[in-house]
Amino acid sequence: MPTDFSEAPEFRGVVALDGPSGTGKSTVAKLLARRLRTQYLDTGAMYRAATVAVLRAGVDLEDPVAVATEVAASRIDVGTDPWRRSIQLDGRDVEREIRTAATTAAVSAVSAVQAVRTQLVAQQRLIIGRAPTVAEGRDIGSVVWPDAELKVYLTAREEVRARRRAGELGDEDLNRVIQSLRRRDDFDSSRAASPLRRPDGSTEVDTSELTIDEVVELLASLAFQAVSTADRA
Ligand code: C5P
Repeated sequence: MPTDFSEAPEFRGVVALDGPSGTGKSTVAKLLARRLRTQYLDTGAMYRAATVAVLRAGVDLEDPVAVATEVAASRIDVGTDPWRRSIQLDGRDVEREIRTAATTAAVSAVSAVQAVRTQLVAQQRLIIGRAPTVAEGRDIGSVVWPDAELKVYLTAREEVRARRRAGELGDEDLNRVIQSLRRRDDFDSSRAASPLRRPDGSTEVDTSELTIDEVVELLASLAFQAVSTADRA
C-alpha cells in the first residue's frame, strides 16, 4: 500500500472503530487515518495512561472512588497525528509504560469506573469535535460519537486474535495469551459502564481472513461511500 497520501482526497467526517483486542483495530485505525488524511484518536491509550497514574499512586483498584480521584487529578494528553503516536501523563511520555503487562492487567478495572469514563469521554468528544477523525476504542460508535458517518465493529476468530497479540508481545505461549484476551474481553463486555458491544448502525467486519491493507482499503471505500450517501440525502 502506498504510504504517501498527500494527494489523496480528504475525508470529512468521523469513523468510529470499535471491537475487542487482537482484531487489528489499532493498526487499521492509524493507517486508515493516514489514508483518509484525518486525525487519529486511540482512546485505549487514554485508559491505559489513566491506569499508569493509578498504579503509580498505589491506589487500590477495588476502590472506584479512589481510582476516579486519582484520574481526575491527572493530566492525560494524547497525540492525534497518525504518523506519530504520543501519549503523555502529567507532561511526561508514557508510551512504553502504557503497554506493560502490569498496565494491561489493570486497565479493565480502571476503565470500568463510570467517573473515569465520564472524564475521558468528555475529553475525547472535544478532540473529535475539532476535526475529521478516525477514533478507535470500545464505545466510540455507541457512546462517544454515535453520529459518526461510519461505524465499524471489527471482529476476528479468537485463535486469530490470540496469534496476533502473541506476535505483538513476543509471547510464544498461545494458551496464556488466549486466557488473558478472554479475561479482558469478558470484563470489558460485562461491565455496567459502557460495555463493549456492537453499536447500532455499525458494519461488522471480520478480519480473520483479511490482510491489514485489505481492511484499510475496504474501510476507506465504506467511509467515502458513507459521506457521499449523506450528501445526497
Ligand atoms: O484498545 P486497548 O487494548 O489499548 O484498550 C485497553 C483497555 O482500555 C480495554 O481493554 C478496555 O478496558 C479499555 N477501553 C475502554 N474504552 C475504550 C477504549 C479502551 O474501556 N473506548
